[in-house]
Amino acid sequence: MSSDIPDASDVAEAADSADAITDEPEANDSAVEEAAKHVPSGAPPLRVEGLVKRFGGVTAVDGASFEVEEGSLTGLIGPNGAGKSTTFNCITGVHEPAAGSVYFKGEDVTGLEPFRMARKGLVRTFQIARELEEMTVLENLMLAPKGQIGESAIRAVTPGLRGEVVEQEEAIRERAWETLDFFEIDHLATEHAGNLSGGQRKLLEMARALMTDPEVVLLDEPLAGVNPTLEEKLLDRIHQLRGDGYTFLLVEHDMDVIMNNCEHVIVMHQGSVLAEGTGDEIRNNEQVIEAYLGEDI
Ligand code: ADP
Ligand code: MG
Repeated sequence: MSSDIPDASDVAEAADSADAITDEPEANDSAVEEAAKHVPSGAPPLRVEGLVKRFGGVTAVDGASFEVEEGSLTGLIGPNGAGKSTTFNCITGVHEPAAGSVYFKGEDVTGLEPFRMARKGLVRTFQIARELEEMTVLENLMLAPKGQIGESAIRAVTPGLRGEVVEQEEAIRERAWETLDFFEIDHLATEHAGNLSGGQRKLLEMARALMTDPEVVLLDEPLAGVNPTLEEKLLDRIHQLRGDGYTFLLVEHDMDVIMNNCEHVIVMHQGSVLAEGTGDEIRNNEQVIEAYLGEDI
């Protein structure tokens, strides 16, 4: 995949070669996973079928089914509590669904842990956790990539492997700088993440997601609290990355943003999909209008 951000396959390869001696039982299949990447399989990059997730007596997701077309910028909307965030969490392995399936390029990946999903190329953005607030922006990015061999303490102290670790760290550092540059936050590299403005945080969250070399990126309200200038910049970057072949599924409250940027819109209501179509189709859909109870669409 070509983009302004250099391909991190060198980083991934370094990680792959180290997998055999890490303590992850299934880690050595990641070379195959990497090879299978970027090969058109005919199946959509993301498909969910009959997803169900309950919290006690609340059914947050109630049989949601939809698919996301390759290279698209697809919008996922719905009134508050419709189950959008829970759907994202079920897709990316944060929650295990009670029923239903998640398919990534045709492969059933239901219930895989988030880091395995990220390895395959499916990520969502996360708010910067408290412990990451204490770290610099650059450190935040360097911690993001999947399968860093430096994470394994044994490797870092084993003679002969140390060089490999250093080499990989340099590749990650280089990619981190490129990513910072791409989002125009390179001037913040040494700033603690906790000191960033709301909008800068959103840029960092997205930059972190991109450091994992994903194919499908799920964005949950990436523009919340972002000023108009940064909002434009973020949308710009999303379009640029989409042009490079990334696929996006975007949850966003601001209906104008969805209508102006997404060619396909999926509407969730009470845990399942109520309607799908172009922005215009959705805007004029009676069921959708009713679900929003008079809110502007
Ligand atoms: P949306 O993102 O569309 O606003 P959510 O997926 O956050 O909706 O929530 C869907 C429903 O599930 C809501 O009723 C919400 O209160 C409930 N819910 C979400 N997460 C949890 C949780 N961790 N524990 C209990 N209930 C939850
Ligand atoms: Mg939500």
